[in-house]
Amino acid sequence: MRGPLRSGVEAPYSQLLRSPLPPRACLGSRRPAPCLRAARLLAPRPTGVVRGGEREPLLTLTDSVSGRGFSCLGPGHRASLPHPACPTFSNLRKGRVARRTPRSRTPFGAVRRMDPAPGLVEPRADEKTRSPEQEPVPWQALPVLSEQQSKDVELVLAYAAPILDKRQTSRLLKEVSAVYPLPAQPHLKRVRPSRDASCPHALEMLLCLAGPAAGTGSLAELLPQPAVDPRGLGQPFLVPVPARPPLTRGQFEEARAHWPTSFHEDRQVTRALAGRLFSMQERVAMQGHMERAVWAAQQAAARGLRAVGAVVVDPSSGRVLATGHDCSSTASPLLHATMVCIDLVAQGQGRGAYDLGPYPACSFAPAVAPQGIRVGSVRKLEEDGDVHVDGLPYVCTGYDLYVTHEPCAMCAMALVHSRVQRVFYGAPSPDGALGTRFRIHARPDLNHRFQVFRGVLEAQCRRLDPGS
Ligand SMILES: [Zn+2]
Repeated sequence: MRGPLRSGVEAPYSQLLRSPLPPRACLGSRRPAPCLRAARLLAPRPTGVVRGGEREPLLTLTDSVSGRGFSCLGPGHRASLPHPACPTFSNLRKGRVARRTPRSRTPFGAVRRMDPAPGLVEPRADEKTRSPEQEPVPWQALPVLSEQQSKDVELVLAYAAPILDKRQTSRLLKEVSAVYPLPAQPHLKRVRPSRDASCPHALEMLLCLAGPAAGTGSLAELLPQPAVDPRGLGQPFLVPVPARPPLTRGQFEEARAHWPTSFHEDRQVTRALAGRLFSMQERVAMQGHMERAVWAAQQAAARGLRAVGAVVVDPSSGRVLATGHDCSSTASPLLHATMVCIDLVAQGQGRGAYDLGPYPACSFAPAVAPQGIRVGSVRKLEEDGDVHVDGLPYVCTGYDLYVTHEPCAMCAMALVHSRVQRVFYGAPSPDGALGTRFRIHARPDLNHRFQVFRGVLEAQCRRLDPGS
């Protein structure tokens, strides 16, 4: 079909993607809007109808297999953004998806553009049982945590003693805590129930830490008198206790197996580790950005360059600010995909260092600066570390990077210096500096830290450049 789709005309999804729809319809650009791609994942074989006029197009997709229907209101929304008024998204958020009676539909077109890769489409057998809240996309964005959050629980030896007379517990707790306050182990509880049910005593008390070569000690040796009256306590024994407060629920479970431990849970970390941090809407947007990075990597491979691609996004608007790929084998050895993208963002702010004109797949969007601030004006670091005299942030302050492969140490440090907010990468790299070899994003001795998630479209990214 050459001209715009006429209102009321039913067409296969593939044809909708290729047809010039009214300019403000959500399919009016080269890429379908995220809400339609969400619908596409839930409805593997939809056909569509455009209703309304050019000023108010309404696209309705109906899956010819399941009978599920999705609609998307186009007017006033940019194709790169989710449509807040789109019933598809509002239905997804509320856990409702309209069901329609299956009807005879136009056969699905042979050519499909922007179809999900094999494996992304929801299995048809699950179609009737799957809730729209469930994830149809088989990848997980898992957090790459700091060394402290990732390592096993470190144990130290301590002395404990059975409490033979429970009536003395309160007094002993007060006296022992005053003598041995354990300021570096505020997470350790002083008293625990006896683990052996056959023991004559019900409680045990933590007395003090012991050195690594500590032997059996007596109460008289361990407890200074008269500060502590040892009446009511039994023979001390050595026990391993967690040296530091647990930072994740996994560390907490491991720590409490040794000695009762308090835990101040970071719920965001717990949800991230469980793969529940991002909503369906966010996952669809993330997948779209990583697909763009994969596309950039494919463009690089077509030119004989390393197949690594990257995209910088402003998450507050969903706007793609830069798309780039590795240029290190021809232009400069420094031009890894991440470095290219940072430079492209800088070019969008009126700066930048490299001429990337010969690489058409590398592009940037001009920065939108707050009113009265000249983009790219001279910047100077304030004492608080992050704010400049002209009020502008660093190059990537508040932005997200999507990159097909885990960045190296050079790129990771460039991300620190440019103050990126989050990094999403697909496949790990042998020399990766955001989880594999180093965790530069979480080093306490650097003056900027950022969040890192791995695994977005990992299978596709691995296939791009298996040697990376
Ligand atoms: Zn690099």
